[in-house]
Amino acid sequence: MKKQVHSIEVRNAALARLEERGVTIKDIAEIVYEMQAPYHPELTLEPCIESVKAVLEKREMQHAILVGIELDTLAEKGMLSEPLQSIIAQDEGLFGCDETLAIGSVFAYGSIAVTTFGHLDKHKIGVINKLDTTLAEDGQVHTFLDDLVASVAANASSRMAHRMRDEQEAAAARAEAEAEALAEIRLEGKKDGEEQAG
Ligand code: MG
Repeated sequence: MKKQVHSIEVRNAALARLEERGVTIKDIAEIVYEMQAPYHPELTLEPCIESVKAVLEKREMQHAILVGIELDTLAEKGMLSEPLQSIIAQDEGLFGCDETLAIGSVFAYGSIAVTTFGHLDKHKIGVINKLDTTLAEDGQVHTFLDDLVASVAANASSRMAHRMRDEQEAAAARAEAEAEALAEIRLEGKKDGEEQAG
């Protein structure tokens, strides 16, 4: 029988790889904040961190992270065969498999995730820009990692946008129910007062 890899092993490996490659949950949360703050002026970093953590719990995301970072790391060590070695090491513009891998996990989070991913791919915000420029100068390869970070950030942005709407609506419903209950109590009180007076 084949040995099944336990989910916890996959999860821990994906999180460890991200950290080894210099990307923290806070780095990704800061991108989420920047994407969502214009729509939610009261937003803080906390829910962004929570959302990034939740996205990183998805097995599909973890698998993409493991595959992409593995290829980056092997390219960095010159261990891939040609021509793939040169294509990944040089972050060849027309390669596209880095985006394809990353975008695979974006569809599950809906249209906000898809459009945010496109935006991040183009504008390279926060740690994505750092991966794309400064670290590349030291001979590091982040051909896949920049897109994976964009994917996690896009998914976390979409997830949070939907949750915040749900919370707003739930709060409005609670307020309405409380107001109704209060009005009923007042009405009862008024009736009692009238009966006593009469
Ligand atoms: Mg890339």
